[in-house]
Amino acid sequence: MQSVTHFIFGVVIQKYVESLSLPFWIQVLLIIFLGILSHIILDSIAVITYHPAEPQDTFFWKAYHILILIASIAFIIIFIKYWLGMLASSIPDIIDWYILRPIYWKITGKRDYSFSFFHKKIIDLTRNHLFFWLPDLTEKDWAAANELIIIVIGLIWMFSL
Ligand SMILES: [Zn+2]
Repeated sequence: MQSVTHFIFGVVIQKYVESLSLPFWIQVLLIIFLGILSHIILDSIAVITYHPAEPQDTFFWKAYHILILIASIAFIIIFIKYWLGMLASSIPDIIDWYILRPIYWKITGKRDYSFSFFHKKIIDLTRNHLFFWLPDLTEKDWAAANELIIIVIGLIWMFSL
């Protein structure tokens, strides 16, 4: 899933957890746990969204990712109050794409886009056990619409809390 999608569900989680009367430290742990869990579930069903394994040299790929980037930055600024939820829901991407992958690339000298921990070891396993029946639409441009549907559902849920 795209970063903005994870952020939306991170805000949903934080809003929900904060509505419970729990000690602060339990709220923090719960937000981190549920944030990581939401990332695993969303990425497990991400096969139904436009998500080519490697960057594409097409207008659609570039335009789509620029739009997602702008939406993600705007979302962070507007909902900065929920930074913990957004951060927690992005932990697997932060660890895999911004920490492990650059280290791996540096050590091996290979630009291998499939190298990851959360995404390979946990998310692929979850998908193969629970969501194996979903069609793989990751290379289809129109599947970006599925991401949009998930974003709209998340936003409705977020504003209903
Ligand atoms: Zn991810």
